[in-house]
Amino acid sequence: MPSPVPDQPTFPMNISVPEARQMLQGLLPAHEAETVPVGQAAGRFLYADLEARVSHPSATESALDGIACREADTLGSFRQCPTKLKVVGESRAGVPFSGSVGAGECVRIYTGAPVPEGADAICPVEQLEDDGPDDVWLLRPASPGDVRAEGGDFQLGEVVLRAGQRLTPARLALAVSLGHAEVRVRRKLRVALLSTGDEVREPGSVLTPGQVYDSNRYGLAAMLREAGTEVIDLGHAPDSPERLAELVEGAGGADVLLTSGGVSMGKYDFMRDLLLEQGRVSFWKVRLRPGGPAMLGGWRGLPVFGLPGNPVSSLVVFQVIVRPALTGEAPFSLRLRAATPFRAIADKTAYWRGNIVGGTVSDYGKQGSGVLRSLSDTGALVIVPEGQPVEIGDEVEVMLF
Ligand code: AMP
Ligand code: MG
Repeated sequence: MPSPVPDQPTFPMNISVPEARQMLQGLLPAHEAETVPVGQAAGRFLYADLEARVSHPSATESALDGIACREADTLGSFRQCPTKLKVVGESRAGVPFSGSVGAGECVRIYTGAPVPEGADAICPVEQLEDDGPDDVWLLRPASPGDVRAEGGDFQLGEVVLRAGQRLTPARLALAVSLGHAEVRVRRKLRVALLSTGDEVREPGSVLTPGQVYDSNRYGLAAMLREAGTEVIDLGHAPDSPERLAELVEGAGGADVLLTSGGVSMGKYDFMRDLLLEQGRVSFWKVRLRPGGPAMLGGWRGLPVFGLPGNPVSSLVVFQVIVRPALTGEAPFSLRLRAATPFRAIADKTAYWRGNIVGGTVSDYGKQGSGVLRSLSDTGALVIVPEGQPVEIGDEVEVMLF
């Protein structure tokens, strides 16, 4: 049988990581919106900007327990003796003082309570001494800094959260404090997931030599859920072109199909052949390591991203190419000094696993694309640009995994 791998490909090969991300993103459907209660919106991506429906704080309020008074009354006389003020009332959270504070007067006030008219400063309870029920001594001047101004956090009508932002716990809490009971979020992308390989077995089964557990499908499903997508688990396909085609067919309702294995140069890499012979190929091979054989194509209108089977490769390619394309979020990275050298590859960006210790990063050592422990032990990918080795003391970009 002639090799399906063309001598003169009609599609791009050996493209860069940003090109690969962009091409995958280009095949995904436009975002659709749905409205969900805030209680169900954690981890979702905002479809539209969110405006504040209230100001926060909703009134000028105290940041402390103590008294509210006029700052001017408490300045000046401190070197000689403390100031004495008359207590004319109380303001507590939810029950404000209705009068106003005049010269030489104060009201007892508690955290979150509105600062009464006339008052402009707070003196904390730790700095007060009662002189009977109606008078207090101030042991230090009152401070306007302990007053939270109305709208100081955000103002009514202000756009505070932006379309495309993921609702992290902090952003979800913020959305609620902006006054939203429901939010418009992106519909979850439906991602079908299929692993391939005659040697690949379900967890719990007994392995014979040469077999391997299907770690990719479980790791990828977890990454897909974390990326805010709905996973359609198509299970596992043996290395049979017919069975593979049948299972791919089952991905009908999905927005995109993600496969693991079978896209490399071997005789039994049937995922590659399915796209080359019966589908279409948008690109094959990306200039990165691990994960070089990644392939993007389509099968009967369904975008298909073929991840390499090697366990580290499949998770790294997901992290650096697929995840950013699905979420629109740039991968999070920071710059650290290298505590060991990192080798470069002439024509590929390397994502070496590194240990972060004391603000520096060092080579994990076992960089084989089958060594999953390199990812689970470190959680960090050191990005070494094509042909630019990293020396000890150089700054490197490190992506957290
Ligand atoms: P392939 O890309 O199909 O040539 O597979 C490359 C390597 O990855 C082989 O050693 C496979 O046994 C291994 N592999 C393939 N699929 C999986 C999987 N789903 N889980 C774990 N390892 C896999
Ligand atoms: Mg295989």
